[in-house]
Order: sequence, then structure tokens, then C-alpha cells
Amino acid sequence: MSLYDKSIGKEARASLEFAEDSRETEWLHPSYSAMLYQGEVKWELLHPFPRQTSEDKQIGDEFLAKLREFLEKHYDADEVDKTGEIPENVLRGLADLGCFAMKIPKQYDGLGLSQVNYNRALHLTGSYCGNLTALLSAHQSIGVPQPLLMFGTTEQKNTFLPRFRKGAISAFALTEANAGSDPRAMTTAAVPTEDGSHYIINGEKLWCTNGTKADIIVVMAVTPPKIVHGKERKKITAFLVEMNTPGVEVLHRCRFMGLKALYNGVIRFTDVKIPKENMILGEGDGLRLALKTLNTGRLSIPAGVTGNSKWCMQVNRKWSNERVQWGHPIGEHETIAGKQAKIASDTFAMDAVWKLASSMADDKHFDIRLEAAVAKLFNTEAHYAILQQTLQIRGGRGFETAESLRERGEEGIAIERALRDSRVNLIFEGSSEIMHLFIAREALDFHLQHIGALFAPGLSLGGKITALLKMIKVYAAWYPKLWIPVLSSARFGMADPLNRHMKSVAQLAKKMARTLFHKMAIHQKKMAEKQLLINRFVQIGTELFIMSAACSYADSLKTNGLEGKNAVELADYYCREAKLRIDKLFRDIRSNNDKATLKLNKRFMQGEFEWLEDEIIGG
Ligand SMILES: Cc1cc2nc3c(=O)[nH]c(=O)nc-3n(C[C@H](O)[C@H](O)[C@H](O)COP(=O)(O)OP(=O)(O)OC[C@H]3O[C@@H](n4cnc5c(N)ncnc54)[C@H](O)[C@@H]3O)c2cc1C
Repeated sequence: MSLYDKSIGKEARASLEFAEDSRETEWLHPSYSAMLYQGEVKWELLHPFPRQTSEDKQIGDEFLAKLREFLEKHYDADEVDKTGEIPENVLRGLADLGCFAMKIPKQYDGLGLSQVNYNRALHLTGSYCGNLTALLSAHQSIGVPQPLLMFGTTEQKNTFLPRFRKGAISAFALTEANAGSDPRAMTTAAVPTEDGSHYIINGEKLWCTNGTKADIIVVMAVTPPKIVHGKERKKITAFLVEMNTPGVEVLHRCRFMGLKALYNGVIRFTDVKIPKENMILGEGDGLRLALKTLNTGRLSIPAGVTGNSKWCMQVNRKWSNERVQWGHPIGEHETIAGKQAKIASDTFAMDAVWKLASSMADDKHFDIRLEAAVAKLFNTEAHYAILQQTLQIRGGRGFETAESLRERGEEGIAIERALRDSRVNLIFEGSSEIMHLFIAREALDFHLQHIGALFAPGLSLGGKITALLKMIKVYAAWYPKLWIPVLSSARFGMADPLNRHMKSVAQLAKKMARTLFHKMAIHQKKMAEKQLLINRFVQIGTELFIMSAACSYADSLKTNGLEGKNAVELADYYCREAKLRIDKLFRDIRSNNDKATLKLNKRFMQGEFEWLEDEIIGG
């Protein structure tokens, strides 16, 4: 049975079904975001906001102090950007600190940091240098340590993990020239030897971060197909590959608009012989491994970009007071004021989101697949917008390099570098568009499960009637509840305005769930095609989660100490703005230009507006 309508085309359906095969189908633990799409606010999952134990906090504080001191003394982020290299002695120093073994448990000689402390470290590096954050994150969040910790055998863990405390660097190689967001297009193949003791890998990987420096990497490769639901399905498997294995070759170091010191490369594999013991998880489980790894791995970028947004706050606070134009500090002009209010409240919301999701990851009693995707989507998009506005507020100085600023006697504030470095966050580890698709699939799961049962293959007429009755029963119990107004905010246990905002979240979640249901009833399986429509639901669900996280976090700061006592003001502002955006999204769901958009794009792709490309120097 396919969840996707035939009209989307054979290839598109095959890619979606391929992704579907690797999806986690069960919800073993509760998910706040998933329940929002069903109209429910499981407030007890978010409130009170999780607090780091004092013991764990102290471990993190001590490590962060050492890391900060090392970076301040030895790491020049502008020089790294200019030369495109992180000096060897700095890499050695980072290794000595244990930066390549932060998440590795002590039993394997690692630092054994919790997810929260690990992300606190990336939050610190993120405030300072994108290159370093990408190096550490690609190594630990998606490179060898994370998948091995989650799925490695005892032998694999004993063999490989202790190497990272000594400074070994790892990477993750999935992307190929023709397989970007769509892994089904992958061609790198791992063929088992006749005796089954080894695999022979052939193929080429693109844009492998750390690939030109790494000692050992995870390689995703196509292994022999398997029969799933009576159909032959392509299978992908993860292998540990030592970079010094004969046949592994770094063909090219890729260079980018930002992250100039990223050790990113094209890697070719020619008859690379790998023992079967180097397979992680099972044959054919590679994509499942990648998706599960990313559930926690995806949290490091949101933490890093929050650190950088806080640095933007600092830059703006100083500059908008100091810079006087037209008789006033520029921060007093209303247009700049509007930008800064958004920067401050968005940064607060980002902080709430990564801290909450990281604590949930440590707790292990939550399903955070949606929270991690929302954190990646929201924090990277908000951060890029914050940098754009910070550059604008700094005016010409925002566009000038730090070196040039210094040379003419001003403070070298590298906004242009940070902007260049941040852009790729919207592309790698799941682009913003793919995050929308991912969240949408999970958001629709409740409906697809029930509708899917009705279309199960080989179901007799009797079976169909039973499935239909079951579906009617489920919806008859669920749907009327969505119309019951939320009368009281008492259960949220906070003071106004936070309580009032959470009451709105509860009300809006019901409205979102019933509107989504109505649209599902109209479009059924064709809903998967309607990205413009579904994206609006994803954006509403994202806003509702972020409002909830911000309210819970603000309440905890208010309750627990003096610092951040005015956090409520930031959460309040975020929620007010979010409600305006949500109102617009609902209006756009009701009435929009989607048909005209698609029609115009079709003409555009057919070259009907080519005349507009006149009088240019083009390709
Ligand atoms: C600096 C850098 C570092 C990287 N590091 C690594 C790494 O360490 N390991 C690794 O394996 N890969 C890495 N990548 C690859 C990265 O993950 C991919 O770039 C990303 O997956 C997108 O693939 P693509 O660039 O081929 O874009 P495409 O998949 O070709 O997509 C092009 C555009 O179309 C959109 N799009 C695609 N499909 C859909 C759809 N179904 N619906 C709507 N929109 C869609 C995309 O979001 C994007 O905007 C890196 C890339 C860069 C630039």
C-alpha cells in the first residue's frame, strides 16, 4: 500500500516510499509537537522547564571555562577565515582538551558530557567561529561517535571510540553528485565478497565535511536489494571506513562562500575492501541509522547558531547606542527598534528551543524527532535573519571585513564573515525545505495511520468495512473535542501573560488540527503534493511549539533566580508576534494564490518569461 497518490509520478513516489521504509513508524515515547497536530497540548511534557542538575552543570562549567580560555588564547577566527586553515597546533590543543571526545562516555576514555553540556560547548564555539562549530559538529553529531554510540556493537565501541580522545577526526559521507536530498538516487555500492567476510565499496561522495582531515568516516552505500511488501527495494547500509584503506582517495577540497576553513572534500572509493565487522547496525539499515542519528545530532547546529545570535545581540546593543545619526542613537529610530526587538525575542526563543530539546535528549523518555527538526528549521532560519538585520544595523561596517575595520583603527567585528558562514546552515543536515517535508510527514501520521488501514493491500470488502468503522469510531471520539473551547488557563500553572499565551496555544492547536483534518478530507492522498498548503501547517505547528518552549523557559527563569527575571517580557513579545504570524497563516490557508503561483512557475520553467532575461551577461 502506498501513502502517495499516483498522480505525483513514479519516480517521486518511489523516492517517498524509499524514505517511508526507513522512517521510525512507532512513537514509543511521547512527543509534544506530534500531539499539537492532533489538537492537544501536553503541557506536562514541557513544564516545569527541565533544569540541569548542579552536578552536570558543574561538569559543563568546568569544561566550558577551559575551552573558552583556550579559544581566547589560541584561536583567531578571522585568521582562520582568511587562511582557510585551522592551524595544526590549535587542532592538537583542541584534541588535548578532549574536544573530539566530548560525547564519548568515560568508559571509552571520552569526556562523557551530557547532550546539554555538549551543546553548551557548541553554543560557545558558535558564538565565535562557524568553522570550528562545523568541524566539531560534523565529527560528533553525525560522524562516527554518534552512530556508534547509538548502534555500535561492544567490539566496535571498544575498538574505535577511544581513538577520539587522542584526537582522531571523523566524518559522515552520504551525499553524492546526484543524491542530495533524495538518498534513493545514491549509486556508491558495497558488494559483499563471495565468502561474505568483506564488502567492496566503489563510488564517489561529495561535500564530505572533515573528509580531507578525517582518520575514519561513516560511508553510506547501496547494498543488495531486499523484498519489502512483495516489492524489491533498494537498500542502503552504513560502514566504518578507515581513510588510509587502499582505494580511498580525496579528489578535491571543496571551497565555499563561507566556512572557508571547512575540511570538506570529494572522496572516491575504488575497490575499497572493508571487513563486514565495520558495518554499523544491519545490512539495509543505513538510512534508518542516519535518521535516528540526526534526531539528536541535529541539535548541535541550533545550539551553535543561538550562541552566534547572542553575539549579534551584543554587537547591536553596543552599536545602536553608540552610533548617532540624525541627532539620535540609531537604536532610537523606530525602524531599528523594530529590528532589535525581534532579534532579542527570537534569540530568547531559540535559546529555549535548543535547551529544551537537548534536555529531552538526555532524559531519553521523549520522542524528539519533531522537536529536533523544528529546532534545526527555526533556529537556523531565525539566525540567518538576525545576521541579515545585524549587518543592516551596522550599515557599511557590517559589509566591511574585520581586518579592514582594524586596519583603519576600528573594532574588527566580523559580521560579514558570520553571515557568510551561517548561510549553509539552511542547507546541510536537512535543508529547510526537507525539514518542512519531514515535519509534515510526522504531523500527518495520525491521519495516515487510519486512512492507510483502509487502503491496506488485499483487504476484503468485509475488511474495508471494519477498517472504515474503526476509523469512524476514532474520528467520532476525537473530532468533536476540537470544537470545545479552552475556557481556563489555570492548568498551565504560570502567571499572565504566559498563562494567557498558553491558553492561546491550546486554542490554536485545536484550530490547526481541525483545519488540517478538513484539508485531509478534501485532498486525501494528494495532500502530499500540496507543499505550499502543508508548509503553512508546519509553520503554525512550529510557532506553537516555540511559543510553548519560550513560555516554559521564561517561567523557569522567573521562578528560579534573579538572572533573566525579565525573560517574561521576551517570551511575551515573541508570543504576540507569533500570534500575528499564525493569524496570517490561517488566513492564507483559507484564501491564497497557490494556483496562480504554480501556474506562473510552470510558465517560468517552460521559458515563457525568457524575454525578461534580455540585456544581461549570462550563461
Ligand atoms: C558546506 C557543506 C557541507 C556539507 N557536509 C556534508 C557532509 O558532511 N556529509 C554529507 O553527506 N553531505 C554534506 N553536505 C551535503 C548537504 O547535506 C546537501 O547539500 C543537502 O542534503 C542538499 O542536497 P543538494 O545540495 O544536492 O540539494 P538538492 O537535493 O539538489 O536540492 C536543491 C534544492 O531543492 C530543494 N528540494 C529538494 N528536494 C525537495 C523536495 N522534495 N521538496 C521541496 N524542495 C526540495 C532543496 O531543499 C534545495 O533547496 C554538505 C553540503 C555543504 C554545502
